[in-house]
Formats: sequence, structure tokens, C-alpha cells
Amino acid sequence: MRLSHIAGLRRSLFLLVFFAAIPALALMLYAAAENRRSDVRHSWSDAQYAVRFVAKEYEHSIGSTKRLLSLVSEIPMIQRRSPLPCVPVLAGLLQQNPYYLDMAAFGPDGKVYCSAQPDGLLSRVDSSFFRRVVDAGDFTLGARQFSPATGQAFVPVGYPVFDDAHQLRFVVAAGLDLAYLNRAFLEAHDFPEGTVLTILDQMGTILAYYPDPDRWLGRSLLDSALVRSILRVGDGDAEVQGLDGIGRLYSFTRLAGEPDLDIYVAIGIPADAALANANRSLLLNLGGIGIAAILALATVWYGGDFFFLRRVEALVAAAKRLGAGDLKTRTGLVHDMGEIGQLARAFDGMAADLQEREGRLREEDERYRTLFEQSPAGIMVIDPDSLIPIAFNETAHRQLGYSRAEFAKLRIPDFEASETAAETAAHVQELLGAGGGTFETTHRTKTGETRDVVANVRVIRLAGKEVFHSVFHDITEQKRDREAIKRQSLELARSNGDLEQFAYVASHDLQEPLRIVTSYVQLLARRYQGKLDAEADEFIGYAVDGANRMTTLINDLLAYSRVGTRRRDPERCDCEAVLDHAVANLRLSIEESGSIITHDPLPTLMMDPVQYVQVFQNLIGNAIKFRGAAPPQVHISAERKGSEWVFSVRDNGIGIDLEQAERIFLVFQRLHGRGEYPGSGIGLAICKKIVEGHGGRIWVESAPGVGSTFYFTIPAE
Ligand code: ADP
Repeated sequence: MRLSHIAGLRRSLFLLVFFAAIPALALMLYAAAENRRSDVRHSWSDAQYAVRFVAKEYEHSIGSTKRLLSLVSEIPMIQRRSPLPCVPVLAGLLQQNPYYLDMAAFGPDGKVYCSAQPDGLLSRVDSSFFRRVVDAGDFTLGARQFSPATGQAFVPVGYPVFDDAHQLRFVVAAGLDLAYLNRAFLEAHDFPEGTVLTILDQMGTILAYYPDPDRWLGRSLLDSALVRSILRVGDGDAEVQGLDGIGRLYSFTRLAGEPDLDIYVAIGIPADAALANANRSLLLNLGGIGIAAILALATVWYGGDFFFLRRVEALVAAAKRLGAGDLKTRTGLVHDMGEIGQLARAFDGMAADLQEREGRLREEDERYRTLFEQSPAGIMVIDPDSLIPIAFNETAHRQLGYSRAEFAKLRIPDFEASETAAETAAHVQELLGAGGGTFETTHRTKTGETRDVVANVRVIRLAGKEVFHSVFHDITEQKRDREAIKRQSLELARSNGDLEQFAYVASHDLQEPLRIVTSYVQLLARRYQGKLDAEADEFIGYAVDGANRMTTLINDLLAYSRVGTRRRDPERCDCEAVLDHAVANLRLSIEESGSIITHDPLPTLMMDPVQYVQVFQNLIGNAIKFRGAAPPQVHISAERKGSEWVFSVRDNGIGIDLEQAERIFLVFQRLHGRGEYPGSGIGLAICKKIVEGHGGRIWVESAPGVGSTFYFTIPAE
């Protein structure tokens, strides 16, 4: 298939070749015109040369005739005017000189007494010739004559001879044949065919003609263009039609002669012949340039095809394929240094760039699409006017149990379960005003089930319009779990409260019967100690001991349960004052043991001061109780760590095996027998309950034999 623009290129190339050929053509035509002019000039000068040659020849023949006649006049037989013997003499002379048609001698009476030919041409010449010669008294030409027999034209020439008394003795004459000038003309030059010689007189009568001597001879042709221009100009050149109607370049002149005897000679070279050379070379040149142009056009056709049209075509076709979206297309051309090679390189480079960029874009597009579609959250872009989700991901429509096509036809109110249409409209305005928001709502699925969702909506601009970008998570299960946990913790709190209440009531109510048991057992001991047998004394001792232990346990349990039931609202407390209070409570045991209690500056915090006096008191009390050989040294400090204060109570006591460290915070859990260290194992349990009740933690770090550090935290706010 030839593409139209390629045809255009080819046409342009053709036009270029055509325009390039125009100057050559013009130059050639100019040269041809010059050639023609110079050929014409040559032909004129050839004709002029010939005419002058013929004129010279004529003059020469007149001179020769004069000399000949003067010699003839000296011949005695002529002088003696004896006819018979002189005839052979003149006939001999005529034979030797073919330029003459006749020779004769005239007597004083004007009659021929001797003629080269019997009844010769001269004897019939008009008598005016004779008188003219006698009157002139010298060598004289007569009017041109025609031979009645042959029609040949001749000019009679006469020479008079006088005696001493100036009396005419005789006249010698010769008839000069004008046709001999033809010969002179032929010798003059090698003329082209069709060249003619014309001799005429002042009457327009043709005296001689070459190459067809008889054709025009004697005819008066005054109305011929040639004759008219010769008679008008006399001496000169003209391009006119010859007698035969053929156009020729004529040169003509008047031959020397008598004033009233005009003879003209004209030589004409056919205009065609004159221009033949120029025409031939013009034709040759035209042919040459034609062939050159055809060759050039053929070169443009095939060479253009070979050198660049095919490549341009490949470029154009590749550009079309690229335009149609085929980014893999290439020109397939060699990237040489030529313009088309460079163009092909640029094109191929551009196509490769485009292909790569498109690949990258597609990859990126795929990445974002995957991110969008596979997002665990439902994503929708919603038109706030129509409330139609204009874009949504797979999670969005699956979460609601719809296919993509079904979901695309829905509006928000179609699946919004917690709002009326009016509420939704108001909500939309609110979101538009605030630029978005986060809220919980309920969606109804295709099957009619309701799902709780938390939606995060933002107002964004998309294609010049404000739309909602909504990300929503299904929190139905979470919400269910959360509610279950809430229920459980409520349950737990309630049962804890019940337990605490039970422990309190039990320990409180047990006190009374226990007190009775204790007092009566003690009464038994006082009254019957040593009055019964030894075994009875031992049993009473066990009963008293058990009753006392029971009292301690019940009191401790009561104290423990009171931590929960008697909690007061927290207040701002200076922890140093709280510590001082605890130290004051312990004054006796501190003095007894010789303990040294030190502390760093302590903060002021929100707390129940009574309970924290208890915490410090229990921890410092333990530090003194579980002392080693050295006097106890206890140091209290506090340090802020993030959102809480970390308190520490460090001692140099016996330390704790860390494997047991967890256990010591449980109720009634002790690491030592009562025999070693007194106590019931409730002190740390109370500390833990108070600290956790204030939102803190408690733990211990220790190295046995070196000392222990108890830590607890209190929230800073
Ligand atoms: P109690 O002091 O009445 O035994 P606690 O609850 O106060 O009960 O302590 C529990 C146990 O933890 C103690 O019996 C003891 O073994 C260990 N303990 C507590 N404080 C210290 C301490 N400062 N040094 C070493 N052991 C300790």
C-alpha cells in the first residue's frame, strides 16, 4: 500500500528535479538561440563572400574582354576588313574562351563583316549597341541580350577603332555569357543544398539562375519579393522568399558596369539549411536533457525509494502503530548518522521510553489496585450529592454480601441501618463541614443481618469535586467480645465484692465467738494450770495458743478485707509526710533494732494517705524484721519513669530466694516459720492490694544474704 504522504514526498522530489532542470533548459535554449544567431551570421557571411567573389569575377571578365578586344583589333585581317580569312580567327578565339557566346567585327556602317559563327548572335544585336560604342569612342558594354536560339543571356561588349583622322574604321565586339558566373559561384564555396544564385537586370529580368538555369531565364519577375528587395537595396542582405517560394538568407550586389546597365547578382542560402546545424544541436541537446530528466526522475523514483522513501514509510508506519497504542513497535531501521537514521534512533528511543514508562505505570497501578482491593478495611469513595459509592473495593461489597455489580447500584441509605434518611442527610452536611470524622454505625447486609462498623471518613477533592473517602472496619465481633468482657468484669467485680464482704463479715462475726473461746480457754489455763495432770496442762496450752493464733489470723483477715471496703477517695499527698507517719508508727522497733531509715526527696501525688502509711509501714517493718547480723539500714527513694513514679524500699536484710518472690505477695504466704520470724503472711498481700487499687504494680528484687529492694509504682496523674 502506498501511503498518500509518501506520494506527496515523491511528488515534491519530482518537482525538485523539475525545478532543478529549468535553469539547464533555459541555458540550453539560450545557447541554442546563440548558435542559431551565429549560424545565421555564418550563412550571411558565406553568401556575402560568394556574392563578392562572383562580382570580382565579373569585373575580372570585363577587364579580360577589354584586353582581348584590344588584341583582336590589332589582327591585320580584322583591320583589313577581309571577311573570309578573319572568320576562322574569331571562331578559334571563341573556342578558346568559353565565356563568350559570340565574337564579331562591325564595319563603320554598323554591319558585321566578320563573325565567329555564321549568322552569329552579335549580328542580330540591336543597332543601338553599335551607336553606343561609336558614341562612347571607347570600350563599352551594351544592354544585356538574349540568344534567340537558346535564350541564354549575354552582355555585348564593344571596342571601336579609329584612324588618325578620327574616322571610325571598325568595331570589335564579344558577347559575354552571364551563365559563366555560375561556375565562379560554384568555385566560391561549398554551399549547402538548396543554395541558389540569381542574376537579374534593373528590369527584374532573370539573366542567370543556378542550379536550374532554364527555369526562370528571361522572365521579368518584378513582383517577386526577392527581386523587389534587390532593386530597392542594391547592395545588402535580406531574408526573403526566393523565386521558388523558399525562404533564404540572401546577399546581393550590383555588378560593375555602365551606369544605365544594371546587373545584380544574389546568392541565397536556405534558412532551413542555415539553421540545420543549430536545429540539430538544439534537438540533440533537448534529447539529452530529456534523457537526463528521465534518468533523474527514474533515480528519484527508484533511488528515492531505496535511499529514504522506504525508510520514511517505515517511520510513518511505526508512528501510526505507536499512535494506535502498540508501544512494542520499532522502526526496524539502522541507526546510522544520517537524518533518517537519527530520526529512527530518536523514535525508537522514545518508543522504548514510552514502553518502559507504561510498564512502570501498569506495575504501579497494579500495586495500588491490589493495595486497594485487598485492604482488610472496606474502602468507598462516595458522591455526597447522590450518596452513590463511585468507587469501592472488594472488602466493601463482600462485607455487605453483595456482588460488585449489585453494590454498584446501591446508595448509602440502602444499607445504612442506624440512621433515617433525614439523619443521614444531616450527617453528610456535618461531615462536609468538618472535613470528615470517625463514627460508629450499623450496616445492613444483603441477607438482612446487621453489622457494626467504625467508619473513618475524609473529605477529599477528586477530579475537581469534593467527595467522601470512607474507610470502614467491621467491629461486630470486637464489639460483642468487648461487651462480654465488660459483663465478665462486672461479674467478677461483683463476686469479688461479695467475697470481700463475706471475708469481712466472717472475720468480723467470728471475732465474737472467738473472743469467748479465747477468754474461756485462758480462764481454764489460769484456774486449772498445775491442778490437773501434766497432759491436761499441755492440752490447755495448745488451746490457748490456737485461740491466740486464730485471733491474729482473724484480725489480719479483717485488716485485709478492709483495704477494699474502706477505700477513701484519693487526695493530693506529700509522700514524705506519709513516710514520716509510717516511720513514727514504727519508732519503737526502729529504736530497739538501732535501724537507720533514710530517703530521697519524694513527690506529691494523688493517693489514699492512710493506705500508703500502711504500705510504707509494712515494707519498712519487714526490712527491720528480716534483718541480718548488721543493724538495718533502710533507704526509700522515688523516680519518675514515663507516666508513673517508681518507689523503692531498699534494705540490707537476709534477702529472698527469687524463686519464691511471686509467692510472698499472696495472703498468708511466708517463707519462714513462726519460730524464726513472727508474722502471719498478710503484710505484703495488703501492700499489693493497696498498690493495685491505685493502678500500680509491686515487685521485689533481691539477693539472699545481701538485701532486698521492694518496688511499687503510683500513676503520676
Ligand atoms: P510476715 O511478715 O507476717 O511474715 P509478710 O507478708 O509481711 O508476712 O511477708 C511474707 C514473707 O516474705 C515473710 O514471711 C518473709 O519470709 C518474706 N519477707 C518479707 N519482707 C522481707 C524482707 N524485707 N527481707 C526478707 N524477707 C522478707
